Amino acid sequence: MEGFIRFGTFVGLLVVMAMWEVWRPRRQFSPGKARRWVTNLTLTVFNTLVVRLTVGAVAVNAALFAQQRGWGVWSLLHVPAWGNIVLSLMVLDFAIYLQHVLSHALPVFWRLHRVHHTDLDVDVTTGLRFHPLEILLSMLYKAALVLLLGAHPAAVIAFEVILNAASEFNHANVRLPTALERILRKVVITPDLHRIHHSVVVAETHSNFGFSVPFWDRLCGTYRDQPGQPQTLKPLGIQDCRDPRALGLGRLLLLPFVACLSPTRLQQTPTVAGEAPEGRVAQGRQR
Ligand SMILES: [Zn+2]
Ligand SMILES: [Zn+2]
Repeated sequence: MEGFIRFGTFVGLLVVMAMWEVWRPRRQFSPGKARRWVTNLTLTVFNTLVVRLTVGAVAVNAALFAQQRGWGVWSLLHVPAWGNIVLSLMVLDFAIYLQHVLSHALPVFWRLHRVHHTDLDVDVTTGLRFHPLEILLSMLYKAALVLLLGAHPAAVIAFEVILNAASEFNHANVRLPTALERILRKVVITPDLHRIHHSVVVAETHSNFGFSVPFWDRLCGTYRDQPGQPQTLKPLGIQDCRDPRALGLGRLLLLPFVACLSPTRLQQTPTVAGEAPEGRVAQGRQR
């Protein structure tokens, strides 16, 4: 049942957002949209298989396990079921915000997370584009939190559905009426807000880490209301990793373990003795 709800929401929203992108796109797509879609959706299918063959629905199973044994903080504090659901949703969402901040701050996690950031356009499929290792780590992290909290299984299922739906919505290349967008961004992460996070400008990349609600960014001082360049013009992706030929599926899976330089740049950039290519990427991120 849980799988049916998640899969139904995932596919339903994917179709709706894709149609919305055709109807009212916010930005003009760069050439190569079909190739990006094939890459992102193939990666999604691959990730689904990896998860099924490894940890499966580990977070929900952890919730059921904790519930049967009366484990977790909410159980110790005698929090009723409705309170458990509300508090678990809030804590899990903040935990995912923190995970995202750490994914940018710690080089080893950035290596995984940059797969998401190398997309040269941002659309509904970008919301699904993550390295399988990042997904597995995130699932184990969530399961550990669920055990610690004793989160209600319904809260875990609702959280996963909301997170996936929010990711599909806030990555979509869709234009919302300006007045509506201004109201919506006060309570949810809109596509215009999250697109700032995908800017090539490093200071903008390190802002707007939230997936569902903007409160954590506002609270922790990482909220950015507007980009430096207009939404329709600003380049997206990672400055040193913008050659589409270097962003195929195989390369994306290898990206955590290799330098994020395109073949063109590798040919053009003379090798400096003692300087690792990754060193230049790190410098590039500081700009
Ligand atoms: Zn990010
Ligand atoms: Zn994103």
